[in-house]
Amino acid sequence: MDLRIAHLYPDLMSIYGDRGNVIALEQRARWRGIAVETRAYTAGDAFDADWPDLWFFGGGQDQGQDVVGADLQGPNGGAVRRSIAGGAAALTICGGYQLFGHEYVPESAPAIPGLGVIDVTTRAGKTRFVGNLVADAEGGTLVGFENHSGYTYLGAKAKPLARVRIGHGNNGEDGTEGAIQGHLIGCYVHGSLLPKNSWLADLLTTWALERRHGHLALTPLDDAVETRARDAAIEVAKARP
Ligand code: GLN
Repeated sequence: MDLRIAHLYPDLMSIYGDRGNVIALEQRARWRGIAVETRAYTAGDAFDADWPDLWFFGGGQDQGQDVVGADLQGPNGGAVRRSIAGGAAALTICGGYQLFGHEYVPESAPAIPGLGVIDVTTRAGKTRFVGNLVADAEGGTLVGFENHSGYTYLGAKAKPLARVRIGHGNNGEDGTEGAIQGHLIGCYVHGSLLPKNSWLADLLTTWALERRHGHLALTPLDDAVETRARDAAIEVAKARP
């Protein structure tokens, strides 16, 4: 059994430790004896729609999103759409989340079209949300930090990933954080998210492996360290919201 991870635009969209999500997915697979390969897919490449089991798309600045948005409007966007239609899973963070949605409208620049594979729309708000973020999801508590001026609003096909406990989340208005739609997840938790949220890493891995290997239950890992890290981060967020 093997796991194939496509890291989208790592040169342009991987800020605030987001690469740690790929490292966590790789290491947890190796601990389970699952072979794993990660390939970078960036602007100018010809994306192979059939190879990935899982797409990872991190956060970035508006400038990087301009370049990436333009690339996704070409054949590479079609490749990602075909891959997702074929059962690939995805984790998208902040800017990447925004570009998996319908569009991101910066404060003083033209709208950047997204792929529209997650039913969300984002527009720049008056206040940039920066700080620790704690949000309660069905599978566990998400903890990390946020830094975005985009306010994201969910459409009917997307469900909130979590409810905000500390911080702002999607838009600072409706109490939601992130979105889940099929095997696609978007959220605003940088930091990186998965090392302190191992339940989510395992959910994404299960979805990714399902594409070529069918449904399976992952062998449990000893997550004592990850749990301590998560709980410590929550305590910090409580002290310094
Ligand atoms: N540029 C986008 C925003 O400010 C995304 C930022 C990010 O990915 N951290 O909302």
